[in-house]
Amino acid sequence: MPGFEVFGDEERKEVQDVLDSGVLFRYGFDQARNNHWKAETFEKELAEKIGAGHCHLCSSGTAALSVALAACGVVVGDEVIVPPFTFVATIEAVMSAGAVPVFADIDETLCLDPESLEKALTPRTKAVLVVHMCGAMAEIDRIKAFCDQKGVTLIEDACQALGGSFNGKYLGTFGKVGCFSFDPVKTITCGEGGCMVTDDRKLYEIADAYADHGHDHVGNDRGAEGHAIMGANFRISELNAAVGLAQLRKLDRMLKIQRAHKKEIKAALGRIPGLEFRKIPDEAGDSATFLSFFLPEEAVAAKVSDELAAAGVDGCFYWYHNNWHYVRQWDHILGLKSAAPLPLTLFETRPDYEKLNLTQSDSIMGRTISMLIKLSWTQDDIARRINGMTAVLSR
Ligand SMILES: *Cc1c(COP(=O)(O)O)cnc(C)c1O
Repeated sequence: MPGFEVFGDEERKEVQDVLDSGVLFRYGFDQARNNHWKAETFEKELAEKIGAGHCHLCSSGTAALSVALAACGVVVGDEVIVPPFTFVATIEAVMSAGAVPVFADIDETLCLDPESLEKALTPRTKAVLVVHMCGAMAEIDRIKAFCDQKGVTLIEDACQALGGSFNGKYLGTFGKVGCFSFDPVKTITCGEGGCMVTDDRKLYEIADAYADHGHDHVGNDRGAEGHAIMGANFRISELNAAVGLAQLRKLDRMLKIQRAHKKEIKAALGRIPGLEFRKIPDEAGDSATFLSFFLPEEAVAAKVSDELAAAGVDGCFYWYHNNWHYVRQWDHILGLKSAAPLPLTLFETRPDYEKLNLTQSDSIMGRTISMLIKLSWTQDDIARRINGMTAVLSR
């Protein structure tokens, strides 16, 4: 799964370029930088690769989500429909915008259920923030159709799904904005980093300025630049961007390896009775970072998860009991425990987070185990893994 497995001379060369120039800043210093524009080059190459009009690189995926929400005009009191299965960053970004996360159920894609959106919709709904979890897609065409029909903004958190696609179109390019993360455990990594992509030039310009104190980035005298809006600092450094650039150029190779490993394991496990795989609306577009499967019931899944670990099959996640990815363990978030009072506490219309009714999601997550797919596995590793898994899962 993670890009750190394939660090090599390519990453070292890109970083060396930056260190040799002495310019760690992504803007300006035109003379000194010896023509190295790592962040800018990354943005161009990523946009081109996934067929997005524009890309803006940020300091993290969480930063990209914050920038995306601001650029989409999500303001204090707006409601944003979110899934209960995601990394907490998705929810944090909505809450720090002052907006109100409204949870809707997931389905067997492990992503938002298009059928659950209507129930979560209110006159205050500004956006649907769909998360493509564990490397594969939501029913993105149906979710997009819903948003278009209701006049609601679609934002994609594709932080875990770089390189994934649906019917030949890359994930992250269906919504008004798509966000990616390059943190230490993502498909490609640059230590810390993320980006947002959009086809909307105006929205891109707002994001680009908002992420850098409002700088409009016109001309090459930073001190003389205009500032149409205020912003903050969500910038990436050239050092991180340099690593990201080398990683991006390895993406296709990484996807190919992941897909081959996953296919082999899935074929071997497919014969086990009672075992079902996660629903993937377009198998060919799966980035294959994880293999997710369902056991017949919660008690069995919890037991199998322990047994897999005991059998030495590492890298398996039982998200239902996990602190960071499923809503049931988020007492800090559901209890609105923040460093400073959250704007959403001002709104009595907010959902009662202590009494969420997500029985469909509970029933799915209670039965789900995901195993990460590593790039570095040898044929022996895979064979041993298949044997270990078959022994546990066939009991
Ligand atoms: C990793 C992740 C993020 C946040 O990205 P960071 O770069 O770690 O800030 C957001 N959403 C999802 C679904 C993620 O997996």
